[in-house]
Amino acid sequence: MGLTGPTAAPPLPAHRDPWESRLLGDEDLLGDIAAAIGGPFHVLYPERVTANIAAFRETFDQAGVTGAIYYGKKANKAACVARACAEAGAGIDVAGTGELVAALAAGVRGADLVVTGPAKSEDLLWLAARHGALIAVDALDELARLTALGPPARALLRVLPEGRTSRFGLDAEELAAAVASIDPSGPITLEGFSFHLSGYAAAPRAELAAELVGRCLGARALGHRADTISIGGGFGVDYVGAADWARFGDPDPRWFHGDPPRGGYYPYHFPAPGAAMLGEILGHHAAPGTGTLADLVRADGIRLAIEPGRALLDRAGSTVFRVQGVKTRTAHGHPYDIVTVDGTSLSLSEQWFDSEYLPDPVLWPVTPGEPTPTVVGAATCLESDLLSRRRVPLTRRARVGDLLVYPNTAGYQMDSNESAFHELPVPPKVVLRPARDRLRWTLDAPPR
Ligand SMILES: *Cc1c(COP(=O)(O)O)cnc(C)c1O
Repeated sequence: MGLTGPTAAPPLPAHRDPWESRLLGDEDLLGDIAAAIGGPFHVLYPERVTANIAAFRETFDQAGVTGAIYYGKKANKAACVARACAEAGAGIDVAGTGELVAALAAGVRGADLVVTGPAKSEDLLWLAARHGALIAVDALDELARLTALGPPARALLRVLPEGRTSRFGLDAEELAAAVASIDPSGPITLEGFSFHLSGYAAAPRAELAAELVGRCLGARALGHRADTISIGGGFGVDYVGAADWARFGDPDPRWFHGDPPRGGYYPYHFPAPGAAMLGEILGHHAAPGTGTLADLVRADGIRLAIEPGRALLDRAGSTVFRVQGVKTRTAHGHPYDIVTVDGTSLSLSEQWFDSEYLPDPVLWPVTPGEPTPTVVGAATCLESDLLSRRRVPLTRRARVGDLLVYPNTAGYQMDSNESAFHELPVPPKVVLRPARDRLRWTLDAPPR
């Protein structure tokens, strides 16, 4: 049973970074920003991105592996994140000319870009080749188009893992054909192989990477460079504590306003997230008696690339809405509130995958009160447009004018689905930086 009866979901408080505690604990800052913006907004703390990059790099160093970190840019569009990558010496994984141009504008050099995505446009292939970016080739016809373009190009071949259903990558036969078709003294340099797996397990990534070491050696025998393996993204993020996650368990349908989401949930408690998961991958023995993946790549002088999106953004941002209305309803005889905020679930993408973003939003100002199960609705006319369909056990009753802060939203929640639906403005991004004894805020903007 929840904090406030059988119709309230159990609490799922998010892990909190010091900067988030500082923001929530400051008497004025959030309120001042909200007053200046006049609508929902996102907050980003790029220093946390820098720290996340450093943690991945440290893991590579400890394993004695030459690593390369490419930020999976689709996870957040903020210019300050790309800039943090550039300053920290990380590359960026882009999938279109818009992302490529934004990465270059943020200061990431062309040689530090990897271009993924299926059937890339002629313009994208040409720009990527011009800037010396690494191009993850997804299909034979794409390879033919890249070859015909003319300028020298650096290529990886994206692998369709055997037994997986995916629309991306080349199967075993196509891989062999691709390797054979590239002239080692021609314009295309075959630098290696890549993959990106769904799911968040370490072992399949380590095993496939180990298999690709063999493919690199085979390609080298044909005269190719083949010294890079990119294992893609999918590094987990730990949003909530183990005990809270266990209590949430198999959710009770009574916790939800209307039907519960059917799309399944992200594993919000993730015991070995981010850099720790990279450590597991590097330390994995692909087969008994063989070395770890780190041993294998070290022995053959292979550079291991990763493309973390979500994990580089862990605890690097929050999303803030203003409470615009509060009404009380009952379910199974228990009262709960329906709060309407000034934004939409387009700023919290999970709902659009018939799922729900589960780390609990926090009411600001943080003051004591009567715990209240609360559903969060959007300022739109869609019945289904709810930011939280479950009755979140808010620690007090929401009032009009309060702010509702969704934690840890930088990875995919913020802006992958945003649009000006209902002619509501798209929420701006606010960048927070430490300034002596306080936090200073500016608007996120491309460089001028
Ligand atoms: C989306 C994507 C990533 C990033 O995935 P995360 O789960 O955010 O780490 C990396 N590489 C490719 C090819 C992708 O499509």
